[in-house]
Amino acid sequence: MEFDIAVLSGDGIGPEVIAEGVKVLEKVGSRFGHRFHLTYDDVGGIAIDKHGVPLRPETMEMARDADAVLFGAVGGPKWDDPKAGVRPEDGILEIRKALSLFANIRPVKVFPDLVESSVLKPGVLHGVDMVVIRELTGGLYYALPKNRRRTRRGWTGVDTLRYSQAEIERVLRVGFELARRRSGKLTSVDKANVLETSRLWRQVATELGEEYPDVELEHILVDNCAMQLIQRPSRFDVIVAENTFGDILTDEAAVLTASMGLLPSASLAEIPTEGRRARGLYEPIHGTAPDIAGRGIANPIAAILSVALMLRYSLGLTEEAAVVEQAVEAALDEGLRTPDIAAQPESATTTTQMGERIASRL
Ligand code: NAD
Repeated sequence: MEFDIAVLSGDGIGPEVIAEGVKVLEKVGSRFGHRFHLTYDDVGGIAIDKHGVPLRPETMEMARDADAVLFGAVGGPKWDDPKAGVRPEDGILEIRKALSLFANIRPVKVFPDLVESSVLKPGVLHGVDMVVIRELTGGLYYALPKNRRRTRRGWTGVDTLRYSQAEIERVLRVGFELARRRSGKLTSVDKANVLETSRLWRQVATELGEEYPDVELEHILVDNCAMQLIQRPSRFDVIVAENTFGDILTDEAAVLTASMGLLPSASLAEIPTEGRRARGLYEPIHGTAPDIAGRGIANPIAAILSVALMLRYSLGLTEEAAVVEQAVEAALDEGLRTPDIAAQPESATTTTQMGERIASRL
C-alpha cells in the first residue's frame, strides 16, 4: 500500500528523534511492501527563523492533504521572549485546531525492564498498561467569554467551561471503541458532584454506554482518579476525560514510566472504529529538551512508538504497529539504554544506536 506522510520535526531534539522514527517507518515499508511518501517542512522556532511564522499556510495544506502527520516538538529558549509577537507553540496549537484533532490518546505502559527506573515503588507499577484519552479542542481552554478586566474591586479573570453533547459524545466514542479492542473497561472522568458540564458528560457517557454493552463503564470523580492513578494505576485500562482534567491526568500518568522519552501520543480527528482509518497527528509527549539537544543522546522510543500509533490508527496497519512495539520491547530486553533510562549514563546508547537497533529487530 502507499501512504503520504507529512513530517514536521520542529526544534531541539525533535529532528533527532523523528529521524529514528522515520528509519523505523522505512524498515516497516521494506519488510511489509508499503511505500511511504514523506514530505518535510519546518514548524515552530525554525519556521519563525526561516519564514517569520511558526506554521505557514502551505505547511498546513501539506498536513491536511497527508494520510497522517508525524510531529517532533517545538520551542526553546531562543524563542522564549515574552514580548515576541509569534511563538513556536502557536504552530502546534494552530494545527490541532485546523485539523480538528479532538481526541488526544496517550498510551502509558510500564516496561517490566524499566520498573526500577521509575520514581514509584516497583510493586505499584506491576502490570501498568493503560490509555488515557484527553478531549483536545473544547472546554475551558477555548470557550468564550475569556477575559481579564479591572473592576472597582480589583481585577477579575473569566474563563468559560462549555461542552456540547456532540463534543462529549465523539471523544467518549473514541474511548468506547478503544476499550472494546482492549480489556472492555472504560473509566469516564468527571466532576459531576460540582460541575454542570460534568453532569452532562456523565449523562452522555451513560447513554452512549447502551450502544456498547460489551464495555463495562465506570464513572469516577477527577480527584479520586488522580489519587488512584498513583495508588493503584494497574486498575485502569482506558480513561477518558475532558480537556483540563485530561491535561493534568495525562501528565500525571506519564510520571508512572521511567522517562518522558518513552511516551508517544496520537491526536485524532476521527473516531477509529474497527477497520476504519482516522486522520491524525502523532508526536512524542516530550518537548524539545534544550538541555540535551544536539548531543545525540535523546531517547527516540517515544517518537518510534508514535510511528507505531500512526500505523495503527491512521494507516490501518495493525500488524505492522504491533511489530514495531515488539521491536522496542526487544531492544529494551536486550539491555539497550539511552542515558535517561540507564543505570550508568556514561556507558549508555546514543539516539542513533537505539533507533538502528530497533529498526534491525523488525
Ligand atoms: P521537555 O519535555 O523538553 O524536557 C523535560 C525533561 O525531560 C528534560 O530534562 C529533558 O532533557 C527530558 N527529556 C525530554 N524528552 C527526552 C527524550 N526524548 N530523551 C531523554 N530525555 C528527554 O520539557 P521542557 O524542558 O519543559 O520544555 C522544553 C521546550 O519544549 C519548551 O520550549 C517547551 O515549550 C517545549 N515543549 C514543546 C512541546 C511540543 O512541541 N508538543 C511539548 C512540551 C514542551
